[in-house]
Amino acid sequence: MPGPDSSQTQGSAAPSQHLQACPHCGLAHRLSAPRPGTASHCRRCHALLRRTPGGPRQAALPLAALGLLLGLAALPAPLLSLHLHGLERDGTLGTGARAFAEDGLWLLGLLLLATVALAPLLRLGLRLVVLAGLASGRPPRWLFHPLRWEGALAAWCMPGIFLVGGLMACVRLAMLADLRLGPAAWLLAALALVALAADEAFDPLATWEALEARGAVADPSALAATATAPHGARPWLACPCCHRLAAAAPATTLATLAARAPGWGCARCGTPLHPRKPAALARSTALLATAALLSLPANLWPVMGITTFGQEATHTILGGVLALGANGYPLLALLLFLASIVVPLVKILGLAAMLLRAAGLPAPPTPALARLHRLISALGRWSMTDVFVVAVLIAMVRFGALASITAGPGAGCFAAVVVLTMLAAHAFDPRLMWDAPTRATRARERAA
Ligand SMILES: [Zn+2]
Ligand SMILES: [Zn+2]
Repeated sequence: MPGPDSSQTQGSAAPSQHLQACPHCGLAHRLSAPRPGTASHCRRCHALLRRTPGGPRQAALPLAALGLLLGLAALPAPLLSLHLHGLERDGTLGTGARAFAEDGLWLLGLLLLATVALAPLLRLGLRLVVLAGLASGRPPRWLFHPLRWEGALAAWCMPGIFLVGGLMACVRLAMLADLRLGPAAWLLAALALVALAADEAFDPLATWEALEARGAVADPSALAATATAPHGARPWLACPCCHRLAAAAPATTLATLAARAPGWGCARCGTPLHPRKPAALARSTALLATAALLSLPANLWPVMGITTFGQEATHTILGGVLALGANGYPLLALLLFLASIVVPLVKILGLAAMLLRAAGLPAPPTPALARLHRLISALGRWSMTDVFVVAVLIAMVRFGALASITAGPGAGCFAAVVVLTMLAAHAFDPRLMWDAPTRATRARERAA
């Protein structure tokens, strides 16, 4: 097996914090001191290695506090109110989760609460703890724990996606009845904007370096040992969480590293270190195969049941797209079509090609697949839009035989496909594609 990270840094004695391995292809880079408003990209796969915010770094703390306040205020406030033939129904964020539970899809209710409210608020709260701790005279030793969790929650924060789904649902509700936006709708919109600005101002790598400088890390003694170790040693072990590089002993090979007893963690954040994600191919294949199987009922079974004046009808995902188009909203219909049908399909086919490539089987070229993996990791969450559309519709339209919308089994299967493909992309290690021998190298090996 080839060495995981290139020898670009061999023989140097630079301190480890200036070295960074590309998390997408494994190539090690020596980065110069970061300047505000700049970004560094990988030389081989062009992935973003480090982005330094241009604005004042002090803005990160008040923005996190403001986002937390907005989110806490939005939770109990009314989101929408719907008036139909003299009847009125008010909905909060919790109403959608309760409606899923009433329709037998309580797991989906939990997912809704977790992605729209709990994960974003918890993430802002954890960030606030870290920044406030760093601003204090003596940051506590345990400060690396909240920063580690803050990073892990990023993929599950979806208030912005909920807003887009909510907007699509509002368009359909406005066709049916008189609709008014409540204060929570404006608070959520403000939260999505503040969360964007807060992410822009926050520099996770600089925060990890600040924690390291102040000794608030998992194992300060190991940090001191690596700082004096010869840095020409190979291979490097890159931390998947804080991106710190740890050098293994000079004679260590990838095979002996892989066989190392568990519990050998990153000195800075405590995350277990492995040359490559353990059992990445097996885990990713199992998750992807389950997602591919579930995508059949997700598209064939109804995601919603609609009752109007005693007449019952059901809607599949495609049915919902067509209804939006037929009612004069072609742009929203196209957006929903892309998010609910095209993106999941591209995710499943793309990940399958990446698994083939990583296993050394014939597949499209690695640079193209690497770009696709970054796109899938960034955009995959947007498929949740349809789940949020259904959540708002079933929460608001509960007027008995007059007009009611209930969640169908397709909605549960569809949400499972989105979550499973997100987990499959996360379990996959894109560096395996760069490790796998190409057809050209195999031909050379055969000829030799
Ligand atoms: Zn790279
Ligand atoms: Zn780490």
